[in-house]
Amino acid sequence: MHTLEKNVVTRPYGRFFLPGPTEVHPVVLGAQARPMMGHRGAEAQAFMKDIHRRLGDVFMTTRPVFVSTSSATGLMEAAVRNAGRGRILSLVNGAFSQRFADIGKACGFDVETLDVVWGEAHDPDVVRSRVAEGSYDAVTLVHSETSTGVLNDVAALSAAIRETPDTLVLVDSVTGFGAAEVRPDDWGVDFLLTGSQKAFALPPGLSFGVASERMMVRAAEAPRRGYYFDLEFFAKNHAKDQATTTPAISVLYSLDVQLDRMLAEGMEARWARHRRMAERSWAWVEEMNGRGLDLQVMAPEGYRSPAVTAVVTPEGLTGPDVTSRVAERGWVVGGGYGKLKQTSFRIGHMGDHTEDELDGLLDVLTEVLT
Ligand SMILES: *Cc1c(COP(=O)(O)O)cnc(C)c1O
Repeated sequence: MHTLEKNVVTRPYGRFFLPGPTEVHPVVLGAQARPMMGHRGAEAQAFMKDIHRRLGDVFMTTRPVFVSTSSATGLMEAAVRNAGRGRILSLVNGAFSQRFADIGKACGFDVETLDVVWGEAHDPDVVRSRVAEGSYDAVTLVHSETSTGVLNDVAALSAAIRETPDTLVLVDSVTGFGAAEVRPDDWGVDFLLTGSQKAFALPPGLSFGVASERMMVRAAEAPRRGYYFDLEFFAKNHAKDQATTTPAISVLYSLDVQLDRMLAEGMEARWARHRRMAERSWAWVEEMNGRGLDLQVMAPEGYRSPAVTAVVTPEGLTGPDVTSRVAERGWVVGGGYGKLKQTSFRIGHMGDHTEDELDGLLDVLTEVLT
């Protein structure tokens, strides 16, 4: 018999500040206990129709929003497979934007990178001239670089890229969507993707993508689009309010509840709440400086993500020191990502977290660091 107690996480709600997966509200989590339904037929279709309509609202798009049963990395692969013919340019400024480049290479494309130091944002002027020279099929970029807490200006970068005709704009907004302003139609983004377990504050298992018309035209002839991530396959099924293959039905139940909650809050209000949480985190770093602890927000002012703050630690204090001291008090923050592991930690102030919960965390951080 299965022992329920084995390896079970027990933690009061509101203390989990990992930059993904994020805390899931009990009402949203509880929706997963609904019984299974078949994913074909009238009942499932009515359910999906309602999901698709509300997804269009939260993504601020008139285009179909595709639901993929994969983590977000799956749709990063879909982006390059459907947009690429030969050459791709990847804008790299952290671990996830580097992953986008690696995926392109793994799918057999000729990928070039435009690198800036991890912790900086991309400059639209530099990007504009590089794209104009390169005859690239597509440019990949990350909206909110979760490894560094840097926010790229997607509207400006997209406009700069689009000055070169036929170069598609592929955007990973995995920790952007739900936390920062996202307007794929207005910004001319050709493919925008996100995952369920970041600022969307759902359990992991689903990802979401919005494709422009020119992306769909490109996809129709894309030689390496494959099967599972073929956007035409998604479009055909979306038109019938159907899933492509058996979806993560339990996560869809959570999505059903979360979409109502998001629309009730309003996307603009949601962005503003994230902005306030981020500002509160930056102010805390300054407070610590005032007390003689040399912490730094990694991202420069003006390019800081509202979803995640990466904090650089001083000599003698490592990222793992911080995460383990916080864990001893029953709270969770993220460690530094990849090569930034020893020298930083990350606060994932995204999803359904409130400023009060964040204040609770910042009090704990103050206690264990001073
Ligand atoms: C988490 C994350 C990913 C990867 O998401 P998975 O759902 O784990 O595949 C990609 N890009 C960014 C910016 C992320 O934060």
